[in-house]
Amino acid sequence: MKPWMSTGLLAVAFVALFLACTTPRVAEHGGVEHKDASVTADVNGSNTSEESSPDLTSLEAGTLPDHWIDGTDESEPAIQVHAYNDDLYILRQSKRTNYEAPFMYLIFGAKNAILLDTGSRGDPPLRATVDTVLKKWCAREGRDDIHLIVGHTHGHGDHIANDHQFDDRPNTTFVSARLKSVKDFYGITDWPNQLVEFDLGQRILDIIPTPGHHRAHLVFYDRRTGLLLSGDTFYPGFLFVFRPQSWPDFRASTRRLVEFVDRNPITTILGCHVEMTNKPKYAFAYRTKEHPNERRLELTVADLKELDAAVASMGDEPRIEPHDSFIVYPAWKAERFGAPPPVGDPTK
Ligand SMILES: [Zn+2]
Repeated sequence: MKPWMSTGLLAVAFVALFLACTTPRVAEHGGVEHKDASVTADVNGSNTSEESSPDLTSLEAGTLPDHWIDGTDESEPAIQVHAYNDDLYILRQSKRTNYEAPFMYLIFGAKNAILLDTGSRGDPPLRATVDTVLKKWCAREGRDDIHLIVGHTHGHGDHIANDHQFDDRPNTTFVSARLKSVKDFYGITDWPNQLVEFDLGQRILDIIPTPGHHRAHLVFYDRRTGLLLSGDTFYPGFLFVFRPQSWPDFRASTRRLVEFVDRNPITTILGCHVEMTNKPKYAFAYRTKEHPNERRLELTVADLKELDAAVASMGDEPRIEPHDSFIVYPAWKAERFGAPPPVGDPTK
């Protein structure tokens, strides 16, 4: 702690105490299971006494499940579909189909729906699953169809493996995960410094370029729900940066995200994988097929700021560093790819 911080911290402590006494209780990990939207920005630890408070009260509420499929039940579906609310769905691919077990997001606006990512190998029935959700949504809305955009957080194999399932789908726009396609489609002319708005029809997504983990990585912010969909840039697991040249990009992207969350109300942060156990600092052995007692998916603004502080303090000397909810993981520093950091495997 630096001495000049103490006054500010005292003020924050008073604000936190006040809010703790006056606001509805929400679960740990930031806005989980909130049944109404009347939570305050403080749930994510994003307020300080000096910042204006991003307003969470006007956001659409949603729920997260108590339990994601985690590979431990042989009868689990190949894809779990969870309705965050009527207009936003979270899909998880089963670890039994592929160890990556990525999360995908399906978001509905008045004009378009967008699918973010198509998952990993193992042949999950993604197209059929998405078609079913779309059909039910249209039936409820009294519509025949809705245009589907298939987009991505980034172009690694575990996020694009089922692109082909949408090849011949009618009423569909496919956006390749390559940098040029991403820039052209979303209209990003000043990569990676320009944030753009993308309108699904009465629903704006803010698109934040976040190269580092992948050169064309995007983070999506949904203004209706306040969810920050952080892809593989930030999730409870190994935050892989693969090459030394990508490290400055990763640092800058983390900073860009912090600047964004300081200006916008964030309900919670949802990435594309879970690789941490529910024991702080401990990850599962990479590529394991089952995740018993997996950590929750959601991360907080405070977690993101912890990452930002960590990578900033490393400067040009990145190192593998476990934190409670994530592991900074410059992959070229590991003896073996995905080897757990010194904290190790909790099963040993
Ligand atoms: Zn991934």
